[in-house]
Amino acid sequence: MRQSMSARRKKKKRCQWCLEGVRQIDYKSINRLQRFMDSKGKILPRRQTGNCARHQRQLAVAIKRARIMGLLPFVTY
Ligand SMILES: [Zn+2]
Repeated sequence: MRQSMSARRKKKKRCQWCLEGVRQIDYKSINRLQRFMDSKGKILPRRQTGNCARHQRQLAVAIKRARIMGLLPFVTY
């Protein structure tokens, strides 16, 4: 019997975008973008979201674009 290799996390975190086969993140899907932002409107770090490098980068671009379009708020202090 083998023991589990890592006990760091109970839940497996995979990149949501990869799981769904999203190639290009759409900045118009605000509801989805907001799940990767905190209450202040900041983009969550990758370790928290579980996104892969590629999608995290795309996400940041999408959020910034959405902000300029007035769809998402800028960071509030
Ligand atoms: Zn991904």
